[in-house]
Amino acid sequence: MRLVLVGPPGAGKGTQAALLAAQRGIPHISTGDLFREHVTGRTPLGRQAQEYLDAGTLVPDRVTYDMVRARLTESDAQKGFLLDGFPRTVAQADALAELLAAGGQTLDAVIEFDVPDDVVVARLRDRGRPDDTEDVIRNRQQVYRRQTAPLLTHYADILVRIDAVGTVEEIAEWVQEAVTTPA
Ligand code: AMP
Repeated sequence: MRLVLVGPPGAGKGTQAALLAAQRGIPHISTGDLFREHVTGRTPLGRQAQEYLDAGTLVPDRVTYDMVRARLTESDAQKGFLLDGFPRTVAQADALAELLAAGGQTLDAVIEFDVPDDVVVARLRDRGRPDDTEDVIRNRQQVYRRQTAPLLTHYADILVRIDAVGTVEEIAEWVQEAVTTPA
């Protein structure tokens, strides 16, 4: 199964992605996690990405694509994957479609995490990541609205929306239903 999760920062995608990926036996590929590993490991890619993560803006496409392409060609991703945080723009979605098409593949579904702003802000405050300061959160929300939300229209045909307000267990159940009842 090849899935993409889309939702604003703090929507709980990462938590649900980890659960679902473990259940399905497919890798959970989070571009945010990959970037943070590079930053922590002080790799050249990490040095390129850091200023964007700190500001809450998008890392340039070329850097992002190369990292995603490398990850998706690893053997564990051949049987499927769950992408979390990529694509984040329509251009990235096009790049992903091209990459998949080269291997005769397509996405099965895109799951949208629908959650109101106030819930998201409260969750982010509790999470306490270095890029969870008020200014950076605001910036990431704006980036989501402007650059990522258009994906919802782009993927209308395969989009499944879930209400992401609830306990981790409740939301996990809704995600389960979403993937077993395709759009
Ligand atoms: P996340 O963990 O998904 O909230 O991502 C944290 C940060 O990593 C974002 O604020 C961006 O700076 C960067 N990032 C993650 N995914 C992408 C992507 N698909 N394109 C560009 N930048 C990204």
